[in-house]
Amino acid sequence: MNMQQTSRRVLLLMSPATYRAGAFLNAARALNLEVVVGIDLPETLSEYWHVPLGLDFNDPESSLRTIVEYAREHPLAAILSVDDSASELAARACAVLHLPHNSPQAAGAARDKLLMRTLMSQGGAPCPVFRPFLLRENPNEIARQVSYPCVVKPLRLSGSRGVIRANDPKEFVAAFLRLKRLLLSEGNSETETSILVEDFIPGFEVALEGLLTDGQLKVLALFDKPDPLDGPFFEETIYTTPSRLPRETQEAIARCVSIASASLGLRHGPVHAELRVNERGPWMLEIAGRSIGGLCSTILEFGSGMCLEELILRHAIGEEVTNVEREEKAAGVMMIPIPAAGLLKSVHGVEEARQVPLITGIEITAKLNYSLVPLPEGASYLGFIFARGETPAAVEAAIRQAHRLLRFEIRPELPILRPVG
Ligand code: ADP
Repeated sequence: MNMQQTSRRVLLLMSPATYRAGAFLNAARALNLEVVVGIDLPETLSEYWHVPLGLDFNDPESSLRTIVEYAREHPLAAILSVDDSASELAARACAVLHLPHNSPQAAGAARDKLLMRTLMSQGGAPCPVFRPFLLRENPNEIARQVSYPCVVKPLRLSGSRGVIRANDPKEFVAAFLRLKRLLLSEGNSETETSILVEDFIPGFEVALEGLLTDGQLKVLALFDKPDPLDGPFFEETIYTTPSRLPRETQEAIARCVSIASASLGLRHGPVHAELRVNERGPWMLEIAGRSIGGLCSTILEFGSGMCLEELILRHAIGEEVTNVEREEKAAGVMMIPIPAAGLLKSVHGVEEARQVPLITGIEITAKLNYSLVPLPEGASYLGFIFARGETPAAVEAAIRQAHRLLRFEIRPELPILRPVG
């Protein structure tokens, strides 16, 4: 008997801070799947919280052993990382257990911006000129070697953290040192860690949500990002779909993502890609082997009411979903940016904003009295505004109006005084 085919058990890997847990767990429940959560938690905590699979994502070998041993006793139909944190681990575990997934190499390449750029440009996907530098190198010297405007970025962070535009050598040195401080504060080594410097690509930005089956890309949604993203930091704000770009441009974008996926070796499961489009066509910024982040997927609906996570889970357990299309209505979401650092003291206007026509929901995810850290160091949003309507323009206008009604009181934090000596 092939246990993998008969099993309805799926393992969802996630970091404790993920926004994606609820949507995947609800979808799995709706599909009557048995879900096991593998969470990046120390063993003592996972026992305390009765999490069946406490894993240490920083120790992939022992996490892999834990998953494989677990799967011997409890056959799994699929293993999915709901966010970026465990996509390589999921791919490795799937390889051992003969479950369909991306190869571990491809999952690894999608997590490392230098490897990604190298493979993409070798594979013929248009992408910016790039060069890696070690953190210990002298930024004044590098500043003389690069062209402007450029973008400095870390290799392994996400959500635009640490991504900074520089227009001249002085800005470059400041950006380099700021990124270096961030990476050192996260425990990276000065002698071994590299950063990437690449040409700034001007243009209109889009995000493509897709699903790969045997290397064939199915476009699930193409999002326009109507706010200009010109830096120096690149805060995500509004996404609307369907795209307002001409059909030929949309087709060129999909071709570009297919080439990029193939260059990395991504062949199976969800992909989320970011591109820029200018008079020379689409340019790949990046591609991740996962679905859209945050709570953004809330606005997507397929077929007769299927959510994105249900679609992904059905695909993961081997169901045919490639003929499912997104509904025809326009939809949009705003990731509400953090305007200033400090403590979030109060939020006003949510009820009024909810009343704006076409607004379908507002979620304030930031917690009161917690520190807010804006980009480029921060890693979260204040919350999300969702809307649906007949046209993307109407949806965008509704989101902007709702956002104007929200007021966030953020108080500067007092510096921590440490005893001297
Ligand atoms: P992350 O994985 O952290 O989101 P990205 O490499 O996708 O990092 O960069 C985040 C954002 O920064 C992009 O969505 C884009 O707006 C901007 N960006 C990154 N690289 C470039 C570039 N070479 N040219 C123009 N904008 C860029």
